[in-house]
Amino acid sequence: MTDCLFCRIVAGEIPATLVAETDRVIAFRDITPKAPVHVLVVPKTHVANVTEAAAQIPDVLAEMVAVAQQVADAECGGEFRLVFNSGEAAGQSVFHAHAHVMGGKHLAWEDA
Ligand code: IMP
Repeated sequence: MTDCLFCRIVAGEIPATLVAETDRVIAFRDITPKAPVHVLVVPKTHVANVTEAAAQIPDVLAEMVAVAQQVADAECGGEFRLVFNSGEAAGQSVFHAHAHVMGGKHLAWEDA
């Protein structure tokens, strides 16, 4: 069994509130939302961060952005912030690449 949290969510071993899914990507609600809309878009393939995603699965990375747009279209008028934390110092706590899709209010730069 993998000890990667997001691999376990992809496998259905840990529950999550899914909001979108394709063959290669899932999107689910962040467990501690920092905005009215806060969804994580995750590749089903394990890569550690956005740089690895760009190098190893660039078409999936593009699909993650498309799914982010679909979530924002459905939930917050199509406008959203997209955040990839890369490395502990940047705030990354789960080392399986993921995009934070945030919106649903006017986001100042100081906001999460
Ligand atoms: P990071 O800090 O950029 O790596 O983002 C990881 C995110 O995963 C954080 O915003 C957490 O709130 C979120 N998170 C941690 N565990 C779970 C979970 O079980 N379900 C959904 N989101 C989670």
